[in-house]
Amino acid sequence: MLQTVPAFDRIGEENAFAVLARATELAHQGRDIINLGIGQPDFRTPEHIVEAAVKALRDGHHGYTPATGILAAREAVVRRTLATTGVEVSPDNVMILPGGKPTMYAAIIMFGEPGAEILYPDPGFPIYRSMIEFTGARPVPVPIREENGFAFSAQETLSLITPKTRLLILNSPANPTGGVTPRGEIEKLLKGLAVHPHVGILSDEIYDVMTYDEAKATSLLTYPEIRDRLIVLNGWSKTWAMTGWRLGWSIWPDGLYDKVRKLAVNCWSCVNAPAQHAGIAAIDGPQDDVAKMMRAFDARRRIVVEGLNGLEGVTCLTPKGAFYAFPNIRDSQWKAKALASALLEEAGVALIGGPDFGVLGEGYVRLSYANSEENILRAIDRIGEFLAAR
Ligand code: PLP
Repeated sequence: MLQTVPAFDRIGEENAFAVLARATELAHQGRDIINLGIGQPDFRTPEHIVEAAVKALRDGHHGYTPATGILAAREAVVRRTLATTGVEVSPDNVMILPGGKPTMYAAIIMFGEPGAEILYPDPGFPIYRSMIEFTGARPVPVPIREENGFAFSAQETLSLITPKTRLLILNSPANPTGGVTPRGEIEKLLKGLAVHPHVGILSDEIYDVMTYDEAKATSLLTYPEIRDRLIVLNGWSKTWAMTGWRLGWSIWPDGLYDKVRKLAVNCWSCVNAPAQHAGIAAIDGPQDDVAKMMRAFDARRRIVVEGLNGLEGVTCLTPKGAFYAFPNIRDSQWKAKALASALLEEAGVALIGGPDFGVLGEGYVRLSYANSEENILRAIDRIGEFLAAR
């Protein structure tokens, strides 16, 4: 028997992929499955972006690019960052990576080791905890509470910092809750962080423009006092419906940039060139398709929230960002993962049990409303019938 290092026995998963696989299998067996499980927009990548990639291939962009990304792509990220945050970053701090996840990986392995502590949101994106465990650092969950509108609490976050804390991971707008943390709360957090200069910050802002009503995402880039210890994760996957292109960016402080560049050289060399050209077109081209997608998400969000709140034993806060609803199912008497599994197998609705996002996810399920209004309504009917029959 081959023996691998213990880190590989600690590495976790993203159960959304397992649910997607099972939903696909059931569909192939002829079952009518409505998929509200996976976190990817159900829209095609806008045509002008696809065309830019095709053109890049035809123009001969077939080779390696710099490990940090082609300068034109990094400059496009600079323009986009200025437009969304009002902050002018240098292209020399911008890194182009194959998706949002590699930034998570890079930042977490840079700070995680046995004896270190890393704070991460719970419920939150499952890869944070998985990668922290992989490094041998102690994962310290920061509770994300429904009574707080699924925003993180500055006071609670600060209370968990110790001399061993090396990295604090923040995510707003958030997966899986759709929570958006208000600016005032972020300012409180930053005030408190001033006395903890040993703590690095990874701000996952991949849903930055996906907000509704009056909610607005606050980029941590707007606080110059933390720029020397801030890593901002972002990318093309969600905003431009490009999950399969594997294209992301992040902004790094001077002191860390060369480390992530070297990691890229060692792990993936660079991001494929045509995808980077597509990324430039996404940023610089018309944003009508993004606006259209957001209008569709907003309409579906209302349908989901109204539908779920009409079900016995279910209550659902109105999400302020991303494209997820995170209803509370405690009064249904079901355990969340058992409910998710029964809904898939018996009612043909794929969604994700809250505990797949952390222990505080018990009592909740996540629905991704990246599906048509018609399918969302059918899914809610099926969930309602299922709960009523039990
Ligand atoms: N961060 C959050 C909060 C996410 O929800 C996701 C994807 O679901 C990612 C990062 C990863 O994005 P990518 O598919 O670009 O790696």
